[in-house]
Amino acid sequence: MENIEKAKNIIKKVLQYDDNTIEKVKISEALETLLKNEEIPKTIKDDIKYIDGLSSAKKRAFLKYILNILETIKKEEKEKETIFFEKLSINELEKILIENLKILKPIEKKALKKVGATNIRKALYYFPVRYEDKRIKKIKQVKEGESGVFKVEVESIKKVNRGRIKVEVLLKDDTGSLKAYFVHDKPFLFNIFTKGKKLLVGGKVSIFRGEKNIFQPEVYNIEDSIIIDRIVPVYSLRGDSSIKTSSQTINHLRRAIFKLLKRYSKYIDEYMPKYILEKYKLPEIVEAIRRIHFPLSSENIDLLNDYETRYQIRFIFEELFLLQLAQEYRRYMLMQEQAEQIITNEDFIEKFEEKLPFELTNAQKKAIKEILEDIKKPIPMNRMVQGDVGSGKTIVAMAASYATALNKKQVAVMAPTEILAKQHFNNFKNILEPLGIKIALLTGSITGKEKKNLLKHIKNGDIDIVIGTHALIQDNVEFKNLSLVIVDEQHRFGVEQRKILTEKSHKSPHTLVMTATPIPRTLAMTYYGDLDVSIINELPKGRKPVKTFLLYEDERKNLYKMMKEELDKGRQAFVVYPLIEESEKTDLKSAEEGFKHYQEAFPDKKVVMLHGKMKQEEKDKIMEDFKNKKADILVSTTVIEVGVDVPNASIMVIEEAHRFGLSQIHQLRGRIGRGQYEGYCFLIIPSEFRKPSEDKTKENQRRRTLERLKVLVKTTDGFKIAEKDLEFRGSGDLVGTAQSGRFNFSIADLDRPLDRRIIKFAKEEAKKIIEEDPQLKDYPQLRQLLFDKYGDRFELSTVA
Ligand code: ADP
Ligand code: MG
Repeated sequence: MENIEKAKNIIKKVLQYDDNTIEKVKISEALETLLKNEEIPKTIKDDIKYIDGLSSAKKRAFLKYILNILETIKKEEKEKETIFFEKLSINELEKILIENLKILKPIEKKALKKVGATNIRKALYYFPVRYEDKRIKKIKQVKEGESGVFKVEVESIKKVNRGRIKVEVLLKDDTGSLKAYFVHDKPFLFNIFTKGKKLLVGGKVSIFRGEKNIFQPEVYNIEDSIIIDRIVPVYSLRGDSSIKTSSQTINHLRRAIFKLLKRYSKYIDEYMPKYILEKYKLPEIVEAIRRIHFPLSSENIDLLNDYETRYQIRFIFEELFLLQLAQEYRRYMLMQEQAEQIITNEDFIEKFEEKLPFELTNAQKKAIKEILEDIKKPIPMNRMVQGDVGSGKTIVAMAASYATALNKKQVAVMAPTEILAKQHFNNFKNILEPLGIKIALLTGSITGKEKKNLLKHIKNGDIDIVIGTHALIQDNVEFKNLSLVIVDEQHRFGVEQRKILTEKSHKSPHTLVMTATPIPRTLAMTYYGDLDVSIINELPKGRKPVKTFLLYEDERKNLYKMMKEELDKGRQAFVVYPLIEESEKTDLKSAEEGFKHYQEAFPDKKVVMLHGKMKQEEKDKIMEDFKNKKADILVSTTVIEVGVDVPNASIMVIEEAHRFGLSQIHQLRGRIGRGQYEGYCFLIIPSEFRKPSEDKTKENQRRRTLERLKVLVKTTDGFKIAEKDLEFRGSGDLVGTAQSGRFNFSIADLDRPLDRRIIKFAKEEAKKIIEEDPQLKDYPQLRQLLFDKYGDRFELSTVA
């Protein structure tokens, strides 16, 4: 290109010479060198060497001819930059950077930059969060609460003094009139609204005593087809906080995306399987991507704002489908790996039960059976056991460990804290040691010679079951034949850590994850879709359900009376304050104040405190002391360890219960009533919740809170409670913020019932594809998308 420019410049210069000079000038060689490697017609290249010898007229004509040719080459090249004759894959869209585009104005590029859309893919997939109705409507048509834009003529404008209202403007179209109100009387209003002026105003219309009103309407003086007379997308402008926004930023963004859609959307290659789109009547990508940003005027705006149009559903489906594909693919890949076969006799469960001080529940037996079925296969098990606190998951893990040890293979049991590891160790020892199984505890506090010795015995296989904390995944721990990995409380244990442990064995170990958070099926499918699930939905016989009471703040005296009775009998109590994430200081303060308060209320009892700011060892120490009855009341923020057994505790007080998720409280109350004593749980809520509020929103809140908390009084079924939680508060509480943020959905939202229904179909289709075409050979684009988005998270590439 550069050479062509140089050649052109030489030619242009020569053409300016007079005839005499032109005839003498020698340029053949220079042009030949410059154009040697350029794509120009060969006949010209061949003729260039004769230029020098031509007469002035002929030379001039020939040079003009070459110049012409060179100019057209440049033009073609330029057009090639923006016109595609082929389809573009999503990945190719990613390579076109916004900053290099000529079709966008700098201010539009800035708006895209603000929201992090640095390439076309990101810009086109920056979906609206909602839509505004800016269709031009007749005043007569519009109903109460409806929005629109109106082509009106100003009838009159006057200052008024009616409460907040300072200016009233009467507007008219050929069907009716509309009063606009303003809370200020700035002079510019009187310039905009002069009698007889025609303009466009937009906003939400309300009807009062038969009159139509519009409050502080927006005024448009141009008919801009991108932002007026249509349903307009509203984008979130959060993003790079160093880039300032103005009231016009959103319009720049709208225009930018509109232009990009116009120029590029038609080239986007469909990546979703056609048969799926047809089956679910979902629009193809080109239509969907256009309509999700700029819906047709005939679209129902309520459907749009509920994320229920076909265009939105297509992207929701797509996103959930991709996640399910990742999980099914991972599942498939794991099945290609080899694992040790753990074989057990028919009567294994019966024989194991004989060694226990109690009978297994049916749910426990079923879970054990499912695990034994899995681990007898030469492919790795990947299973999660879900069950309420106290449902007896430890025994299930123990059975699997016992089976593995009988096969002369090793087991690693990972607990999130030292105290839990110790507790498991003692439980395992009590039951399995008499059966000849060697069990060891490996935690951070075991050091020196003791540790060296332990590591040696793990390495040579003397030890069958190692129970530990993070110390277990440290580099210097080596196993002889690690074949089963058990992880207690999954959310504290990342994929990374599990991976390291997996690498410590020759073949892929079977893995068993245990979690005390029952979650609804749809959520389990989403977040743990790569795992098989066993559910323990039954508590051991004879266990009395915890009695739960709702108490108002002003009934605190009653609480103390009941607490005192229990404490005097020698029982212990937990008091839990909410953790308010944004302000760790405040919750520390409320727990601290609560601590003092309880000390004053129970002067003859020992009250201790536990909070999130403490080091793990410090927390473990306090828990340990409490467990050993060195204190009567434990005040804490929600950090008390799920899973720690304090058989002597019979009371759980939840302060400010309205701030908690139901499942959270359910887990907390599962801490008590596990021994021989009946458990009591008290949910404390503010006294103002007692009386109906005059404020509508507050009253709604109050009712919902009471309705929600009453679920806990009525039921002790963790799964039912989880369903209610999902209904009332969304999925965040259930899977934890870390989990729910884990997949970074851009449009799917499992808090919407429709999306939860979609996930089932997405799963079905993902399963089918992976069964038929596990490597996604027929869908290279899908495969690419999958690896780009989930490759790291699911370790897809390492197994591929
Ligand atoms: P979680 O599911 O919360 O981990 P655990 O496994 O710690 O529950 O069990 C809670 C308590 O119930 C333990 O003390 C355990 O010994 C006891 N337990 C477990 N299974 C049974 C059963 N089938 N019958 C009676 N008690 C049981
Ligand atoms: Mg447990």
